[in-house]
Amino acid sequence: MNLANDKDIVKQYFNSTGFDRWQRIYGDGKVNKVQLDIRTGHQQTVDTVIQWLQADGNLRGLSVCDAGCGVGSLSIPLAEAGAIVCASDISEKMVAEAYDRATVAPGKLYNVSFTAQDLEALSGKFHTVICLDVLIHYPQDKAASMIAHLSSIAQSRLILSFAPKTLALTLLKKIGEFFPGPSKTTRAYQHREADIIKILENNGFVVNRTAMTSTSFYYSRLLEAVRK
Ligand code: SAM
Repeated sequence: MNLANDKDIVKQYFNSTGFDRWQRIYGDGKVNKVQLDIRTGHQQTVDTVIQWLQADGNLRGLSVCDAGCGVGSLSIPLAEAGAIVCASDISEKMVAEAYDRATVAPGKLYNVSFTAQDLEALSGKFHTVICLDVLIHYPQDKAASMIAHLSSIAQSRLILSFAPKTLALTLLKKIGEFFPGPSKTTRAYQHREADIIKILENNGFVVNRTAMTSTSFYYSRLLEAVRK
């Protein structure tokens, strides 16, 4: 399967059954136990990123690209904290939901924009580029070009999260349970941390901070890389 097909499948999934499922997981309504576990884990990843950025003390006015923003779980709090956020996602429905959530957020947010776009078509320069839980949709052999593109638009920092390869294969099966019906063809790809670090180094970055979120059904390795 080539990447164009993979991307089409991912886009279609997050514009249909995937949208329904993930906008509930990334919301605050009632969900089942497994979905609640994933919601809790994902929120930990988001919170860690926000803590890192706040700890640096320059979040207000910082230009941030949230590539594959989903429903805005990270973009919205970053904008609320004063960052200038360019958020985008390949799924029109996810972006529309993010826009709606930003609209009802307390206080009108003028410093966040949402566009439906493949992250490998993003242009411009941003102090910080963040891409959370998107690499799971990228086969290993396509991760390098994806990260190279994000590196090219990141002036100072790139923050990535991915499902680490070292975990038991049962994880893949568990993730697979979240892709029902025809969308089962949407695969979940794990990545070796050493591979991701090598790609970052090849693009002029060095890892500065790391974190790991592990709940029962959600596993995400988080790396902050800065220019060497
Ligand atoms: N980053 C968000 C978060 O952590 O809340 C969403 C994570 S969700 C698991 C993955 C998202 O990546 C989906 O919204 C999907 O549409 C998006 N996505 C997948 N491939 C993409 C691509 N090539 N360009 C932009 N977005 C993509």
